[in-house]
Order: sequence, then C-alpha cells, then structure tokens
Amino acid sequence: MAGLGLGAGAALSGGEATAQESRVGTRALSAGHRLRNVAITNIVTSAGLGLGIRTPRGVLDVAGLERELKLGLPTRAIDLVTGHGNQKALGDLLAKGAAAAPARYLLAESAVRFGNIIEKPGKIICVGLNYAAHAAEDGRAPPKEPILFNKFNSAVNHHNGTIEISQETAPPKWDYEAELVLVMGKGGRNIPEASALDHVFGYACGNDFTNRDLQNRSAQWMLGKTQDKSGPFGPWLVSADQVDVNNLDMKMLVNGEVRQSTNTRLMIFSCAQIIAYCSTYFSLEPGDVIFTGTCEGVINGYPKDKQVWLKPGDKMVTSIQSLGELHVTLT
Ligand code: MN
Repeated sequence: MAGLGLGAGAALSGGEATAQESRVGTRALSAGHRLRNVAITNIVTSAGLGLGIRTPRGVLDVAGLERELKLGLPTRAIDLVTGHGNQKALGDLLAKGAAAAPARYLLAESAVRFGNIIEKPGKIICVGLNYAAHAAEDGRAPPKEPILFNKFNSAVNHHNGTIEISQETAPPKWDYEAELVLVMGKGGRNIPEASALDHVFGYACGNDFTNRDLQNRSAQWMLGKTQDKSGPFGPWLVSADQVDVNNLDMKMLVNGEVRQSTNTRLMIFSCAQIIAYCSTYFSLEPGDVIFTGTCEGVINGYPKDKQVWLKPGDKMVTSIQSLGELHVTLT
C-alpha cells in the first residue's frame, strides 16, 4: 500500500507558483519549500495542541521539540498546510526514518491524543450525491453538476472524537456518511482541472455526520449538516504525493458492522473536477476543507421499516485505503 514509508523519507519540493496563482496572490507564494511524503495531525499534550507527524519511530511531537530547540519549526498542522515555519529543519529531523529526532519527543501512536487537524477552516465545502448508487438509494438521478453545501467550522472534529447528540433537541434521525476529505494547500480562482490536484495539501478519512430530519426540513440541507462536531476528519492528513486519490477503497463500519463499501473511482465528480468547479465561482484558500461525498449504504437509503437511526454509544469508523481509520463515538 502507498504510504508505508510515510515520514521515512520526507522530502522538500519547490514552491513554484504559476502566473495565475501569482495574480490572485495566494498565501502559498511565501511558502518557499514544501515538505512532501508526510502524514500530519495535531496532537494534544500537556502543553496544548501542537503539530504531530507520523514517523517509523512513533509520532513526533514537533511543537514540543520546537519549544526546546527553537529552530523555527512549524508548530501546528496548518503551518505545514500553508507552508510556514522552517521546513528545511523539519525535513532534516524526519530524514532516514526520523533518525535525528530525540526519542523523548517520539510518542507511541496508541498513546497519542488526537486533536483537530485544521482548527478553523475558512471554508468547509461538501458535495452531495457524488456516487450514482447513493443518488439512486435517495431516489434521485445522478446530478449533472456538483451539488454543493457547507458546514461551519464549529463542525470540525477529530479522530477518537465524540459527537454529543444527546445534547441536541432535534429529532433523532442521525446518520453516518463515509467520505474522502481533502485539504487545500494552494488556493486560487479558476483552477484548471488538469492541475487541480497540485493545489491539494493532503487527504483524510471523513464522516459527514447528518441529521436527516433537519436536512430535509427545507430545500437547503445545511441545517442538518452542520451540527457541532459533525464534520470529523483524520486521524492523519496524508500528503497528496502519497495518495492515488482516484482509486481508494472506502468503508464505513458501525459498531464493527460494514455499512458502506466503495472505491473513490466511482465518484461522479472527481476531486480535480470539484476543485475546478468550486474555484470557478469563489476563491479557494489554503486550509479550506472539502468533503467529497458519500456512497450508498446510509441509513436514509434503507427501506423505511429497516431504518434504525444512530444513538448515543454507537461507534463509527471511516476506513480509507492509505489514509487509516477515523473513529468517532456518539454520546
Ligand atoms: Mn455527505
């Protein structure tokens, strides 16, 4: 599988910008060199939230290391996404399986507390009905143009996170949606489809957790889509160079039972097409998050007499090839 050597050979790549990107003045222009071949997240330590990077020796607590060494390292995941901080020094620390990283800043992945990878995305864009079999179970024809809606950044959530549905007063038609999530690394307007994936920093497992009653209360789906913490993604943001994004197996498991199973090649609108389409109408910026749509198998698609909605205590796992497993529990 791609990504076995993640972190083992982190490499720098040039930060060239095209004339078009220069014209719109993306923040990436100041980025200089970019780390490639990485899987990043934010971890929670006694010092708070900080950048963590997966290495063959464990999860590197980059923020902790920076407090000691003061190398100007990036200290949050967003710093890497936007190209800020001393990426050369970080690349040196990650080289050769993180051989130069001090052992006291390498944590066992099983002991790591994961935090929100992008704390305050400027945009969280979602694509509806992006798999034909999911549109069909919803009784609809495949869309001819992408159906876009959004979550607010209060919906951000993380690996091993919880969603407190017992606190909500809305009717309890709670449903899962396994989705591939992408995070923009370079922004722009009118991004051509052919080069759109060059604008992606990386990919993660996502779950577009949904309240079906609220989703269908009006023609606008947003209310049922942007409950607090209803947009978890993680555990890792895997850099785009590691991911064959148009051929990834994806599953949703609920309490260990497989409910959804597909491959991203079955998306109606590819990641590149989604980026090109969105950027035709508004600017995309580094750190913007896109949920690319779910496949068939959601509870909403079951026959009415078979619909058993999610409840507190249920455990959801989004599993995507090369990206890992995102665990979320309802409380
Ligand atoms: Mn969705």
